[in-house]
Order: sequence, then C-alpha cells, then structure tokens
Amino acid sequence: MLLKLLHYLRCPQCRSQLSLSEATVGDWVEQGQLLCTQCRRTYAITKGIAYLYVENEEWKQLAAEAAGWVQMAKDAGCYDQTGIDIDFRLPYVPIPPWIDIARAFDIVLNIVRPRPGAMVVDIGAGRGWAAKQFAIRGCHAVAVEINDDDQIGLGRSLALMQHANVQYDLLIASSQRLPLADESFDIVFASAALHHSSCLATLLSEAARVLRRGGKLIAIHEPCIADHVTPEQDAPNIAQETAYNIHESRPKLDDYRHALRHAGLQELALFNHELYGTSIEDMQQWAANHWLSLLTADQIAMLRRKRTPTLWRTIRILRSRLQQLPDTTLVPPQDWMDQYYRHVGGSLTIIAQKP
Ligand SMILES: [Zn+2]
Repeated sequence: MLLKLLHYLRCPQCRSQLSLSEATVGDWVEQGQLLCTQCRRTYAITKGIAYLYVENEEWKQLAAEAAGWVQMAKDAGCYDQTGIDIDFRLPYVPIPPWIDIARAFDIVLNIVRPRPGAMVVDIGAGRGWAAKQFAIRGCHAVAVEINDDDQIGLGRSLALMQHANVQYDLLIASSQRLPLADESFDIVFASAALHHSSCLATLLSEAARVLRRGGKLIAIHEPCIADHVTPEQDAPNIAQETAYNIHESRPKLDDYRHALRHAGLQELALFNHELYGTSIEDMQQWAANHWLSLLTADQIAMLRRKRTPTLWRTIRILRSRLQQLPDTTLVPPQDWMDQYYRHVGGSLTIIAQKP
C-alpha cells in the first residue's frame, strides 16, 4: 500500500479516518496496522496488502467465494502461474476472452482518457491487471478484491508490479463496502465484476459515493441477457460458478439501468464494444446480421400484419433506420443497442457519470 493512500482510506465499519501504526517507513507500506480513529477496529497490512473488511456474514460469503475461485482454477488446471506469465501481458494476449476485454479496455480508455494523477479504483480487480494498466498510464490506482491468493488473486499483483516497475494499492475488501472516502475518485473501473455482485444497486451506490462530481463509472465485459430469457433457461450458464460458491448473475439491460439510476449515476454510453469506431458500412453490415434485433416491437407487428413480401419490407424498414445514422459516429446509436440487448443480449460496455 502506498503511504499517500492513507488520506483516502476509511474504516469499512464506520467510515471514519484511519491512522497507521507499526508501519515500515517509506512511500510503500509493506507491513503495518491501520487503526480506526472512531470505533478503534484494527486492520492489518501484510506484504503490502491492506485487509480492510469486517468479519460479518457478508464477508463470510465473500471469503467462501474467494476460496471457490482458487478451487475452480485448480480444478481447471490453470491455477499455477509460475513460468506462464501471461498475466504480465494482460489484457493484451490473443486468446479469448482477452481479445474482447483488451478491445473494450482500449475503447473506454480512448473515450474517458484518464489524465496522469487521476484517482482510479479497480473493483473486483482479480490479479490487478487493470490497476496496473492505469498505473502505467500515470494514474493512482487502487485495486479492490476479495481474494488475496498469490496466483489468481491480488497477491499476484506483487509480481505484476515488479515486472512493470509500477506501484498501485492493494486492498482486500468488499466492493459493496468500499473502505474509501466519499467523492475522492475520478474513475471507478470494473471488468466483468458487476455481475458477480450480490446486489448491483448497492455496488453501484458505493461506486457513486466514492466518485467525485464528474467522475466516471466504467464497466466492460459485463454479460447482459435478453429480456425473454427466464431464470430456468439461464441456470445452466451460471451452474459452474455457483457450484464453487461464486456469485454469478446475468442481469438484463433494465437491471443495469435501474441500478445506475438508483445510484444517481448518469448513463453516458451503453454499447457493444464490437461496434465502436467501425465504419457506417460495417455498422450496416452488423445491422443486417442482427436485423431482427434492430426492429421495434411495432415494426415487427406491422411486418406480421401486412401481406407484402416480408423480406422486402424488412429491408425497407432497415434502410430507413440506417439512414438515421449520423455521418460520423464512434458509438452505435443507443436505440439500436437497447433493442439488441433486449432481443439478443451480449457483452456490455457501460460508461456513466456522477452528475
Ligand atoms: Zn471504525
């Protein structure tokens, strides 16, 4: 943990300021103890990682989940990172799902353009690859994670930091109870983390709390299922994680929207990363491949009512919608995206702002 983070740390129980004692001296705090100035709880710093959680029922579930991630990786034969070092290059490795994650990550960086010195929280940080990428870009990054495992959890960040010659903060804490001060961060970042939350509304409210006015919430690679999918139909998709005590949910578009609104965050863009920055022709091709998802319910009803050849009529409607596109656009039109997620579902990129 960097010494300068102390100013931004708060007790996860009562949100009062913390003081540092029994610490190693220097900019980097390797060992030490954080003491709440109000409720007098203490929190350890060990091997540079600050353990800022309260041992309650919520944390017991998160601890079981953390153990589940380790066991799942072991059972899948991808636990030991020794000699592999793929994670030193994340997200830029040419294997799924990282191809998509890297593209989405570059897109949001291109849109938000974090300035050097910006305060960034990476929630559900895993091994900390995103916090490292923000640190490389000069940001003060804080990785928040439930898992301190030294292969697949935040413990692995020590190797990542050494390899990249950067430092960022390592906190073991609940993202639904961030041990951080109000209105102190410019960016809250999440990669495939929101959907692991047991309460999306609480998680996003916490994100909104720690964001400064004008600060951005960025989420990439979040699954979004179509409106018509029932919990029974979705059950097989979440069964593997659930068996390992990992909280896995597949929110719908409105679930994300309601949670954003509940948190008081203003949606700036919500889109599929595959389409960002593509040409009008490519968007038209994509639209043709997903033509049904781009029609409104009224238009589909009209197609069914009329006796004219369906295909011809579809093309005409589609063409009229494509003509609504502005000449230059990077993010696809929001109404296209809304209908795509409602009908088909897919990977979601979210950028929202604290007003
Ligand atoms: Zn306290």
